Amino acid sequence: MKKPHKNGQEEVLIRGIGVSPGVVFGPVYLVTGEESQPEERVLAEEDIASEIMRFEAAIIETRRQINTIQRNVQRVIGEYDANIFDVHKMVLDDSAFVEETIRKIQGERKGAEAAVRQVATRYSEALAVVEDEYLRERVADVKDVARRVLRNLTGEVLHVLDGLREKSLVVAADLAPSETASLRKDLVLGFATDLGSSTSHTAIMARALGIPAVVGLGDVSRRLHTGDRVLMDGTDGVIVVNPTEQSLRKYGQLADARQLIRNNLNALKEEPARTSDGRAVVLSANIELQEEVEEVRKYGADGVGLFRSEYLYIARNDLPTEDEQFEAYRNVASVLAPAAVIIRTVDLGGDKFASAVKMPQEINPFLGFRAIRFCLAQPAIFKTQLRAVLRASAHGKVRLMYPMVSNVDEVIRANALLEECKAELRGKGIPFDEHIEVGVMIEIPSAALTADLLARHVAFFSIGTNDLVQYTLAVDRVNDRVAHLYEPTHPAVLKLIKATIDAGHEKGIWVGVCGQMAGDPLMTPLLLGLGIDELSMVPSSVPLVKSVIRSVTLEESRVLARAALGAGTALEVLDQCRALAARAAPEVLELIQ
Ligand code: PEP
Ligand code: MG
Repeated sequence: MKKPHKNGQEEVLIRGIGVSPGVVFGPVYLVTGEESQPEERVLAEEDIASEIMRFEAAIIETRRQINTIQRNVQRVIGEYDANIFDVHKMVLDDSAFVEETIRKIQGERKGAEAAVRQVATRYSEALAVVEDEYLRERVADVKDVARRVLRNLTGEVLHVLDGLREKSLVVAADLAPSETASLRKDLVLGFATDLGSSTSHTAIMARALGIPAVVGLGDVSRRLHTGDRVLMDGTDGVIVVNPTEQSLRKYGQLADARQLIRNNLNALKEEPARTSDGRAVVLSANIELQEEVEEVRKYGADGVGLFRSEYLYIARNDLPTEDEQFEAYRNVASVLAPAAVIIRTVDLGGDKFASAVKMPQEINPFLGFRAIRFCLAQPAIFKTQLRAVLRASAHGKVRLMYPMVSNVDEVIRANALLEECKAELRGKGIPFDEHIEVGVMIEIPSAALTADLLARHVAFFSIGTNDLVQYTLAVDRVNDRVAHLYEPTHPAVLKLIKATIDAGHEKGIWVGVCGQMAGDPLMTPLLLGLGIDELSMVPSSVPLVKSVIRSVTLEESRVLARAALGAGTALEVLDQCRALAARAAPEVLELIQ
């Protein structure tokens, strides 16, 4: 889109993917990222050993640098984001990467630089064509690590932002996560890149640092030059080159308006999540690591509705001990007491694997040896976790929840193991909550359709819509080729949610939702109208969802739910949800569009 400009230059709008919110305006600083190509050398026989030593020294130095960056990120942003650099260390520690490079030096007599470059290119090309978007995004991590190793080999110090003197918008073909992590907020207004997606570590890092960013802009790094004046909106994912006065005013006002909305939402922290006609909903948070407990408090959630405990098992070579797990669960429970913390027992398998646990190679891992199925087959591992959870229950309000339950028998068997653990602790005089509440996740259609039977054995249900959608619609949740079929508002999904809520209420137990749907403000009135008691979501979504709850009545939410249950398509339901949100909470729409 082009518009005439009073100084003769045209305004040009380029669309990409907004990955970190914020409107900024300023001069471009273009990162060219050109690196010297290593010269092709043929090593003499007697130089091979020293070349391998040089390569190994570069690996050691790279690991040291990554550790330093990781520690800085940990200190400034937090443990969760610092974990990104574990992926980098995994590349460095990958014996195939190291050995293949050494083989090239030894067998083909290549210099270390050329060998590293070739091996990294082969890795990147192999990753670039895999279907899994997450793995594809790791290409950036491999390139980042390889670039660092190369720099350490050549001694070339390439600080991408060395020339930066004034506050600028950094434009690059791509930015590595470690480069993003070292961006200085005092000099960087935001960044825009040709490549990238919202799940890339670069995007995650930008959000964590609070630096506005737009990625996936095509050839923006070839179209812009250092010094160009550019306006960028990290929410809408656009950059405007040579913006007119009118555009500047429009985006400036937009930024002010959004900030005002955010401030107003944050002011709701102490207010109850209650509709204007008096229906209260519990709003809790999903966490993966104990460190996130601060976020839970910051956004005013009523405790934790889903603690994904498997992250204690991932990215390490051994299993977490009972004491280690106890410490983590107790920390969260005691900080948040008297609010409740629902600890989900380990959900390994599917797309989550732990090095210490041997899992079979499966053709359909999401339909395979996952979650409660794995736990029941490995009672020693399962009981270690159950004892840790029980012990933590003496230090706050702890609840326990089993994932991926598909039949009643699994709940009976898991509860029997829980009783064994209780007896063991009693025998040793170790305190725990004798009345600890146990619930199940409703993630599989068979569980939703037999919720009345399951309800006899548990104190609550939490609907895991991420999996319920995938298992109901037969759409792999991590396969972007079928992502267009992944529809949370599909009538079949709504009918299963409704059946679960009704069965739970009939048996006198409460029902929550802890999948992504719970944190989508557009879905809030629909879930309310279907009768949900609790919504659990990423902590930062709590203010948005609370604001929607406070803007609608239970009555109009029920009308919406009835209409949705009678709708023919997922899109129809989505339109109905959007219409109510636009009427009741237009400012929230403003923030999420
Ligand atoms: C879900 O399936 O909705 C859920 C919350 O669990 P996870 O995303 O961890 O599978
Ligand atoms: Mg799940």
